[in-house]
Amino acid sequence: MINGILAAEELIASRVAHTFRSYPKQITTAIAALLLCAGGGAFAVASLGPDAADLPVQQVLEAVTPLSFATQTEALDNHNFTLFRTDVTRASDTADALLKRLGIEDAVASAFIRSHAEARGALFNRVGRTVTAEATQENRLERLSARWMPDGDGGFKRMVVESTPAGFVVRTENDALTPSSRLASGVVRSSLFAATDAARIPDSVASQLADIFAGDVDFRALRKGDRFAVVYETFEADGQSLRSGRVLSAEFESNGKLHQALWFQPPGQKGSYYRPNGDSLRRAYLSSPVEFSRVSSGFAMRMHPILNSWRQHNGIDFAAPTGTAVRTVGDGTVSFAGTQSGYGNIVIINHRDNQQTAYAHLSRIDVKVGQAVSQGDSVGAVGSTGWATGPHLHFEFRVDGEYRDPTTLAQQDGGVPLSPAARPAFDRMALAARAELAAAFSVVQASAD
Ligand SMILES: [Zn+2]
Repeated sequence: MINGILAAEELIASRVAHTFRSYPKQITTAIAALLLCAGGGAFAVASLGPDAADLPVQQVLEAVTPLSFATQTEALDNHNFTLFRTDVTRASDTADALLKRLGIEDAVASAFIRSHAEARGALFNRVGRTVTAEATQENRLERLSARWMPDGDGGFKRMVVESTPAGFVVRTENDALTPSSRLASGVVRSSLFAATDAARIPDSVASQLADIFAGDVDFRALRKGDRFAVVYETFEADGQSLRSGRVLSAEFESNGKLHQALWFQPPGQKGSYYRPNGDSLRRAYLSSPVEFSRVSSGFAMRMHPILNSWRQHNGIDFAAPTGTAVRTVGDGTVSFAGTQSGYGNIVIINHRDNQQTAYAHLSRIDVKVGQAVSQGDSVGAVGSTGWATGPHLHFEFRVDGEYRDPTTLAQQDGGVPLSPAARPAFDRMALAARAELAAAFSVVQASAD
């Protein structure tokens, strides 16, 4: 137990230390704001500190000791500095086109890449791959590199084309991703996804925000001026982020009300989100069987268009395109997965206390009878099988076989209270999260208007 807590604290300490190294200026501003407000003691105070719009644009840079003037001029005289350029591969790319965009004028390098299957594959098999070139001052290629994550692997691959005295050589290496974290913030002007796009926040993080605050905020009816800050995991290859992970802490101010959450994993338990005061945000059931995504966010949850009440057709319909993932709203066991007249393809899941949920009209079923499922696991995809006029998910909630109002599901508690033993670690983490989120609000986005 003690060891678990110490390990958790070490993890927190190393992550926070990383954030402090990556965002020194923002963190300094945040700490200053926290100290100024220390008398108040309220958590809310921190985020009311620096308004992003009032702050000068800050570039996040590592502290670097400048080279002496003599060293710099010497370097210039010797023409021995390297130019770094980065671009992203396109569907129409050829070796010539890619090198040209990277500012390389090197016919030998171009011919080498064209003739080398390994290099061609790494560069052109996938659109959107980030490629970095290092060039001489004469725009000759010194080194070209691309990094990507192979499917179902924890690490990443790095392909390097390098100039040697004997000509160009290619090597492909496997390496481990470095866990890191990113601070970001945004202001809603039209929708959540427009705001997260402007802040260069990936869709998976936006969807997590919608789930975390589902009980507090209606994401289909955000107001202009609502704002948020988020700290999320990223996994980097040589400093380039290849994948984002879990939201670590977040706050969302909607309609003038501030909501905050942080991820915490008590030793020996499942992690979940908590409010800064230690209340668990985990619910026994998710508020929606369809993830709030770029695709589904434009579609409203609706009662039956004719009957206009869940009572009259026993459930709620979620309009969404065919193929949209459907997830179980709670932990349980699959009790039925197959076809029933009217329902078409349907999955029924048994939960605690004789409660059941049903997911109907599916185009695809992903689970088998008897299978244990965890909250959020995919059970199938939206379709229009059975008696359905168009693609939608028909969702039911039953207790002891009786139909109930599905909107009451999300109100059921499901969180584990913090143990007294975990409390000190939690409080330290909440304090660090406070500093990080305050700092996130001062990360000015280049694209913000
Ligand atoms: Zn229905």
